[in-house]
Amino acid sequence: MKPPRSIPSGEFPSRSTSASTPTDSRSREVVPLEEEHERLLALADVSSQIFWTSAGIEKSVGGLPGWMDFTGQPAEALRGRKWLDFVHSEDRPHVEQALARAFDERVAFSVSFRLRRSDGQYIWMMGRAVPLLDADGTVREWVGTSTNIHAFRLAEERASFLARAGELLSASLDYDATLAALARLPVPALADWCILDVLGPNGQFIRAQVVAADPSLEALVQEVRGLSPLPHAKSSYPPTVALVEGRASLVRDVTDELMRQAAQNAWHLSVMRRVGIRSLLTVPLLAHGHILGSLTLAASTSDRRYAEEDLRFAQELAHRAALSVDNARLYREAREAIRLRDEFLSIASHELKTPLTPLSLKLQSLERAAEAHPDSSLAPLVRSTVQAGRQQLRKLTTLMNGLLDVSLIVSGCLELRREEVDLRCVVREVVARLTPRAGKFQSPLVIEADAPVVGQWDRSRLEQVVTNLLDNALKYGAGSPVVVRVSVENGFARLSVRDKGIGIAPEQSRRIFERYARAVSERHYGGLGLGLYITRAIVEAEGGRVHVHSALGRGATFVVELPLRA
Ligand code: ADP
Repeated sequence: MKPPRSIPSGEFPSRSTSASTPTDSRSREVVPLEEEHERLLALADVSSQIFWTSAGIEKSVGGLPGWMDFTGQPAEALRGRKWLDFVHSEDRPHVEQALARAFDERVAFSVSFRLRRSDGQYIWMMGRAVPLLDADGTVREWVGTSTNIHAFRLAEERASFLARAGELLSASLDYDATLAALARLPVPALADWCILDVLGPNGQFIRAQVVAADPSLEALVQEVRGLSPLPHAKSSYPPTVALVEGRASLVRDVTDELMRQAAQNAWHLSVMRRVGIRSLLTVPLLAHGHILGSLTLAASTSDRRYAEEDLRFAQELAHRAALSVDNARLYREAREAIRLRDEFLSIASHELKTPLTPLSLKLQSLERAAEAHPDSSLAPLVRSTVQAGRQQLRKLTTLMNGLLDVSLIVSGCLELRREEVDLRCVVREVVARLTPRAGKFQSPLVIEADAPVVGQWDRSRLEQVVTNLLDNALKYGAGSPVVVRVSVENGFARLSVRDKGIGIAPEQSRRIFERYARAVSERHYGGLGLGLYITRAIVEAEGGRVHVHSALGRGATFVVELPLRA
């Protein structure tokens, strides 16, 4: 802003400077006053700005046409401080403050405010003015401009609104929290009421959220919530239009007649009247070609009237919101599917395990019968069949136990019965049990343990850990020797199981500890991908950790570290 100029009374600047300042006379040519006046009027005419002066209508540039055109008021209505009546009530205090300061200090000012246009809409303006001073320093008049900065202000406000919306909407993957955040967003900045209708769990549209700017309207909010968004598909009710046809609606002025046309029934009409909708827009929430719901903004108490630009903005907001809502919906569905799967596996593993005990007893009595008749011609066949049956039963029991353990872990019910245990002893026992199996793989099992390693652990769970790691070392060890080492390091019991088999790619080395995660193809190696998951759960429940060092084709070393005391 330029500093205020002091200009002798009754003179235009160019005239005064050229006539009275000798130092400037060489560079300035005298311009006739009328010519200058005419030029000034023409400039005011072509400018998109509103020019004004406090000297009075008759002296102002062109008689204040800009002001009068804009406000639609006769010049008399804008005289003195009356123009302040056209400034938005929320902006009036800071405009008055800026004026008071400028008047006191006789300095130029610039202030932004909303000014009521002839159509009733408030438009953002930047007002600027400079005082013209008399020779004695008193203000002769103020000369100013008002520039329409509405588009710029709106773009700025909306960009920051969308940025905030993005943050809020991505803050959570929880479906209900996302819907609640979305419905709260436009109120009160863009609407007095916000209504959110979405696809419900059984494929029907439901009214999910209703928010009113006025907290005292809670009872009415509940009534609006009780209205169904889709009573009959042919309605002109904007949410229905959005949900059925995926079309947006803009009703700048909602009349009682329009409400009667859109109402689904008398109660609906009464609710709409009590809300007092004056202006309304509805946009569909569309994602991946599907209609997920609709967002309705309504103005009731405020003097806001929705226009095309508001509709475009709401569509942009709805576009972003729809993606967040869709993500939250997919996430909820995925979680629900996982929950159902876990529930099914838990029930199925219990049910499938039940017949295994009687089956085992049957095999036992068959074996006893064969022993009772050793000379029978069927005895060898019965014995080998029982042996094969036992083996399959053991496999099945291990699989079932694995599934049951997963249910325990997922539901947080894995319990440990701690006692004093020597890890070296546990390793020796498991190795002894697995030696026949190791023979089949032609993988010798080697124990490296110089001394007992005693701690407070759950013995049977520890056995399970050692068994899982050794089983894997045999399965994926490609016939290499498997070395099991037990030691104490830095106050922790350390168990390592090393093979020289197929190894694991580094990017898989964390993932293989997840549930059902496998790094080999099913065609080559059978398995459910549960052993390491259960191993990790047990080790972590004991307060320890498990990890692997490996590279593809270079074997693998699994390391378990356990605190000696719980
Ligand atoms: P499963 O053996 O049933 O697949 P696990 O949870 O025991 O389940 O193991 C998960 C995956 O980790 C295996 O599918 C395999 O890809 C990898 N894996 C485990 N142990 C070894 C090992 N010693 N060498 C190479 N890969 C292994």
